[in-house]
Amino acid sequence: MKRRDLIMGASAGMLSGLVASARAVDLPTIRWRLASSYPKSLDTIYGAAELLAARLNRITEGKFQIRVFAGGEIVPGLQVLEAVEQGTVECGHTASYYYVGKNMAFAFDTCLPFGFNAREQNAWMYFGGGLQLMREFFKSYNLISFPGGNTGVQMGGWFRKEIKSLADLKGLKMRIPGIGGQILARLGAVPQTLAGGDIYPALERGAIDATEWVGPYDDEKLGFHKVAKNYYYPGWWEGGPQLSFYVNLKKWQELPDPYKAAFETAAAEANVTMLAEYDAKNPPALMRLVKQGVKLHPFPQDVMVAARQEAFKIYDEEAARNPAFQRIYGEWKKFRDASLQWMKLAEASYANFLYYTK
Ligand code: CA
Repeated sequence: MKRRDLIMGASAGMLSGLVASARAVDLPTIRWRLASSYPKSLDTIYGAAELLAARLNRITEGKFQIRVFAGGEIVPGLQVLEAVEQGTVECGHTASYYYVGKNMAFAFDTCLPFGFNAREQNAWMYFGGGLQLMREFFKSYNLISFPGGNTGVQMGGWFRKEIKSLADLKGLKMRIPGIGGQILARLGAVPQTLAGGDIYPALERGAIDATEWVGPYDDEKLGFHKVAKNYYYPGWWEGGPQLSFYVNLKKWQELPDPYKAAFETAAAEANVTMLAEYDAKNPPALMRLVKQGVKLHPFPQDVMVAARQEAFKIYDEEAARNPAFQRIYGEWKKFRDASLQWMKLAEASYANFLYYTK
């Protein structure tokens, strides 16, 4: 290398170093608190918020710091929405369908029974206008949302006795929250809402006949297989539930642009990573459960068909009385109908061949 090039190279390097440090000095140090709805024991879900915080820390060289709090540490797990809305915390990690009591339209941000799988949810959010519609809706709650993870299709849960047909749902006491519970109630079951820690003892002593949770990896840790051997699939009420990061709108607007970009990038990474982690951890967990005598059953067809029918009756009834729900539902349903036409061709036939043809 010629001497001149060396000097040029050295000064270019020095210059970019100066620019970098000048920019780093310009950007403020920001400390936020994030309230998660989840306990640390749900490591795959809780971990998405930790990933977000760790990435932001690295990207901004420690200037944008987010401290993550588990559910109940500073905010009760099911009050993350209110905490972000009121600015008690700057941001949160939660599932929007916890708040359907305020407005059923919240469900679109997570999932609706017989709705999208994880891929379709992402497609709708990022390219189908879903994120825009949800953000419009969330504005009146003073927040902006970011997709923040997905579990993939969940399992249908643990049943003390086998379910052979629709008639077996009569009087069945099942721990299942949200719209899934409403549907089961219409089919004769008695849905129960229990916090995570209360489910196992209730199932053990027969206070409930069944419970749903997530899938093999998370369910195994709670030990349901020790007291109910029948493990049903699929969890048709959660075909691709999305978790979300909420950010207080005013706090978001105050963020420097590079931090906004960093947040979007880290949230997108957390969104992808959670599903990948579940897809890697569920198969070995399922094998361990089966080795311990767990019996796998698909839900009977008449249960699935009746549940789907009730689900769409509920949506039509809600759309008739709730303008916010109606606005999003129309777009959601259009996207869903088109997606099903596509997914049933290449995706479904490829999957069916691989899974079932020897
Ligand atoms: Ca569930």
